[in-house]
Amino acid sequence: MNLSFDLHTHSTISDGALSPINLVKRAHEKGVNVLALTDHDAVDGVAEARGAAREVGIYLVSGVEISVTWRRGVVHIVGLNIDTENPQLLEGLEEMRRRRELRAKKIAQKLEKFGIADAYEGAMEMGACDALTRTHFARLLVERGHAKDMQDAFNRWLGRKAKAYVGGEWASLREAVTWINDAGGQSVIAHPIRYKYTLTKLGELISEFKDYGGVAMEVVSSSHNVQERARMGQVAIRQGLLASAGSDFHSPGNPRIDLGQYLKLPSGVQPVWHDWDLPDDLSDADVPKAADA
Ligand code: AMP
Ligand code: MN
Ligand code: MN
Ligand code: MN
Repeated sequence: MNLSFDLHTHSTISDGALSPINLVKRAHEKGVNVLALTDHDAVDGVAEARGAAREVGIYLVSGVEISVTWRRGVVHIVGLNIDTENPQLLEGLEEMRRRRELRAKKIAQKLEKFGIADAYEGAMEMGACDALTRTHFARLLVERGHAKDMQDAFNRWLGRKAKAYVGGEWASLREAVTWINDAGGQSVIAHPIRYKYTLTKLGELISEFKDYGGVAMEVVSSSHNVQERARMGQVAIRQGLLASAGSDFHSPGNPRIDLGQYLKLPSGVQPVWHDWDLPDDLSDADVPKAADA
């Protein structure tokens, strides 16, 4: 059977729009066989997703996406197949969420100065758990008419160099990879193209990442176009990294980004799942699969 993998997705536990159960249901409708839930700095949705996945015959990979401060910029590291009960990992993620709370309050203070009142409380109402992200503030700004859409909210208010930008101090690269490894997982560099690094700088990130025990990177991501996927495939091969594929799905409504769609790995790479022990009774979904591009 030709399996469909989506190894990077978000639920309401972080900044996704669907609950873990509804995310799994949609994944099933879209023909996904192997799904990783990778919420920002949180693993609380995995248990719920696992229950739903069992019912529809999806293989659920427990995951997380950890924010990392690297050379004064932000890099995201995805962890796959982690033990979500691991004390070191849980302690690390708890600290991350404390920092998120402090940073969210700073964002709210900045917005207040521009006459946007009660932004912290407002962002909490935008579907937030205990890990506020800029996405929650963006939704609030759109809802209150301070931005015309999410992109506009990031451009005008929340993005780097925008009026209410607060960077945040996240985990170190070593910490994130170590937490994931301690929890028995595989570390994956998320959407490398998004960082806009030169090949030299990306090589330096990869080299440090491998030193700490990182093993894979996202070759295929909705942030990567076809040429970028081919290029990242070559980098992965050259650097001896396994290749991952994920939509980074946050919410329905964007036809270009949906669960399991357009995620075929370029040829020649070694998939991150090459040695996973997948059950051989994964159900074929009810809906015909869209052709992978
Ligand atoms: P944070 O981790 O709190 O800094 O928030 C980062 C999240 O904001 C990312 O995971 C994306 O989901 C979202 N995001 C960042 N840039 C944009 C953008 N330009 N448009 C929409 N969402 C964005
Ligand atoms: Mn996000
Ligand atoms: Mn990310
Ligand atoms: Mn993500």
